[in-house]
Amino acid sequence: MRVDFNVPLDEHGQVSDATRITAALPTINYLIEQKAKIVLASHLGRPEGEKNKKYSLEPIAKVLSDMLKQPVLFLSDCIGEEVVNAVHQLDGGMVALLENVRFYGEETDNDENFSKELAKLADAYVNDAFGTAHRAHASTAGIAKFLSPRVAGFLVERELEFLGEKTTHPKRPFTVILGGAKVSDKISVIDALLDKADHMIIGGAMAYTFLLAQGHKIGNSLVEPDKINTALTAIQKAKEKNVQLVLPVDSVVADHIDFGSRTVGAIQIAGLDIPDNMSGIDIGPKSVELFSEIIQNSKTILLNGPMGIFEIKESAKGTFAIAEAIAQNREAISIIGGGDSVKAINKSGHGKDVTFISTGGGASLEFLEGKILPGIAVLDR
Ligand code: AMP
Repeated sequence: MRVDFNVPLDEHGQVSDATRITAALPTINYLIEQKAKIVLASHLGRPEGEKNKKYSLEPIAKVLSDMLKQPVLFLSDCIGEEVVNAVHQLDGGMVALLENVRFYGEETDNDENFSKELAKLADAYVNDAFGTAHRAHASTAGIAKFLSPRVAGFLVERELEFLGEKTTHPKRPFTVILGGAKVSDKISVIDALLDKADHMIIGGAMAYTFLLAQGHKIGNSLVEPDKINTALTAIQKAKEKNVQLVLPVDSVVADHIDFGSRTVGAIQIAGLDIPDNMSGIDIGPKSVELFSEIIQNSKTILLNGPMGIFEIKESAKGTFAIAEAIAQNREAISIIGGGDSVKAINKSGHGKDVTFISTGGGASLEFLEGKILPGIAVLDR
């Protein structure tokens, strides 16, 4: 079973956020109940093909063992005779965790022989690592060719259900809220979701490229002038598809931003036009009101990207207010699409009030774009 145990570790090498481990428990517990011999494979960090203790999965075996309330056998390698022998000695319902698959460069090269070596450890393949499903690696894609059946775990199943089914045949009105730094990262997702949404709200720095395209002044805000045409194309497509494209009507602005010390200069509220020497750092109160009203009247809500520089207190309000508006709509299916939005929703204290939080950053974005994820494509229909 491929899992995504790529968890953050603190300075003492201890797991500082176990969300990804918890996310794999339903599938592991199910396999325990079925008396399967369970061999878990994961990567951790980027050891670049070197055996580096810093990236060992050993601390995770302990955390997992506490969660499962049974021992987890940690194996100090992921392939080889000793590993094969240890796995053969497992009884049904026992769990073994392999050492980091990225200790071998062959993993990220999707090397066929390495895939075969991994496949020697099992009869069947379960992929529950949604966060790495957009990578064609040996343990996420290559291995599947040598094992059968090859199936999705419950986590992957839920990801496909919410990011796929629930946004392809949404309960309407369906509102998509996009934010974050760059239009260029989200061109494909904007395009794909304009085919599905009823409302598309754009916040974050991305909005300034759209506002500039509409002839507004954006001061010193983060912007991509070379993406003005992309913005205009999206505005045109929204019109053709009858999607209401909604931009901020005001911004919190500051005369300077210091990411290092997480401080900003004196802040004020600007309307649609931002003064010359100021930068837009968050959506303003009128935008919060406007966006919240649309959110309240939606039946499906998808959020991807923050509304401002939420890492700094003075410019986090808009993101948190939108998180709160989403959480307050208990009637709607609310989907938080990975990456920074997940940090933001958890930081806002509303993580438990939404329907689904994706565990994939890049993977969820690629899936929403309509791309085929290699780790999903190899699974049996
Ligand atoms: P992304 O990875 O594209 O989702 O972008 C997330 C990043 O966008 C976060 O680190 C935010 O701080 C940043 N961001 C959001 N709004 C703004 C803004 N108005 N100016 C600068 N950065 C922003």
